[in-house]
Amino acid sequence: MASAQLQVPAGPEPVDAAPVDPAPVDPATVNRQVRDHLLLNFTDLGEFADRDVPVFVRGDGCHVIDLQGRRFIDGLSGLFCTNLGHSYGDRIGRAAHDQLSRLVFTPSWYLTHPGAAALADRLAGLGEPLDLSRVYLTSGGGEAVEAAWKLARQWHAARGEPQRRKAISRTLAYHGTSLGALSFTGLADIRQPFEPLPVPTAFVSNTNAYRHPAGGDPAGFTRALLAEVEAAIAWEGADQVAMLIAEPVQNSGGAFTPPPGYWQGLREICDRHGILLVADETITGFGRLGEWFGCQRYDARPDLLTFAKGATAGHAPLGGVLVTERVAEPFVTGRATYLHGLTFSGHPLATAVSLAALDIYQEESVPANVRALEPGLREGLEQLRRIPIVGDVRGAGFFWAIELVRDQAGRETFSPQEADWLLRDVLSRRMDALGLLCRLDDRGEPVIQLSPPLVADRELLDRIVAIVGEALEAAAAAWQGRTPARRSA
Ligand code: PLP
Repeated sequence: MASAQLQVPAGPEPVDAAPVDPAPVDPATVNRQVRDHLLLNFTDLGEFADRDVPVFVRGDGCHVIDLQGRRFIDGLSGLFCTNLGHSYGDRIGRAAHDQLSRLVFTPSWYLTHPGAAALADRLAGLGEPLDLSRVYLTSGGGEAVEAAWKLARQWHAARGEPQRRKAISRTLAYHGTSLGALSFTGLADIRQPFEPLPVPTAFVSNTNAYRHPAGGDPAGFTRALLAEVEAAIAWEGADQVAMLIAEPVQNSGGAFTPPPGYWQGLREICDRHGILLVADETITGFGRLGEWFGCQRYDARPDLLTFAKGATAGHAPLGGVLVTERVAEPFVTGRATYLHGLTFSGHPLATAVSLAALDIYQEESVPANVRALEPGLREGLEQLRRIPIVGDVRGAGFFWAIELVRDQAGRETFSPQEADWLLRDVLSRRMDALGLLCRLDDRGEPVIQLSPPLVADRELLDRIVAIVGEALEAAAAAWQGRTPARRSA
């Protein structure tokens, strides 16, 4: 099955001799506890029959340290979460401690607490340029997507259109794994075991210019993509569709940036057909693209915006959905009750952590840091095109993907077996030895995904590019060195 494995550390020797505190745990005990009792996300534990599951014990700046004391660059920000790196745990922890010593919990049913109020105010301030002024809080991105779907359905129902029961999403997109969110996720492997899924969803092309026949002509590409959206809506019935969901830059498949005019076109189509436009900013929110929200970079105007991960920079589980006054209207004027609830919506610990993290984002001028360093990162990554297996380099801000191909001129892709060998047997080991954690993804074409902490400096970004370059050179040489028989295996 195609997978999106995080690169799995395997090498025996420490990659960095810098002394680190001993792990505050006994490695043998942890390994036994994992082996005997723990189930992991999207993981076939059978693959760990003869080795231990990697265990990380500490973070340090933009690095993480494993149970053996080996130190790695946190090149994927954990999972697009640790935007502030690992330096602020004490400070954010104190905010969490202060909150818990005052009030550990209160539900959010007809009552709330000052932390949730302050966070709502703060998020509405950040959402102001997009006219997003009200927020519902969740514990993560998939929950935020589910919350957005229910808001959309109920909004239409309150306006006399309860028949709008369908959604439009994009191929390969990942929007979460709970059954509602999975309905919008365009990855066959992880959908099919759970079909039928509750929300009928039509999938249109994502913005992968490298693989689209019109991709070489940005204006034509936009026209083709939007025509496809129009056709999908017509096919589903314009008055049957409740929402269209898309990421400003799609992660799954590898950092697909939108062509010019794409988001404006989506807005126009949605307006014309009465459909709500949802921007899923679970990854792109909070500075990853050099703006507080990715929508600002592309002048996208969604009706609802989902976020998570960066909202606490990974220090606690929190997500949510920001909406415009127009979308909030039925729910704040007595016309409709939002029929949704989560015990931990607006949990005081999570809101305190998010407020403290947002203070640090502001103090560190995180979006500005990303904007300042993006050109150098882009330039460094673009130079990797010199390596014969590099087909495409794409992305924005601190959010990049490198697509690997058999041949650059013909853009011929690797077979699943070849991709598996290249990503796991060659690249993963090499990056592991060189001390970089990133993601090697073959859910679409094989890609290396990079998404470093947003507080990374130029030196660290240069080091990441150097490691990726070295690993890719080694992989290209290994590919060349495969006997013809094995190369065509
Ligand atoms: N939406 C997007 C765009 C995501 O990338 C993810 C997770 O990576 C999700 C939704 C689901 O978020 P969570 O895992 O917090 O439920």
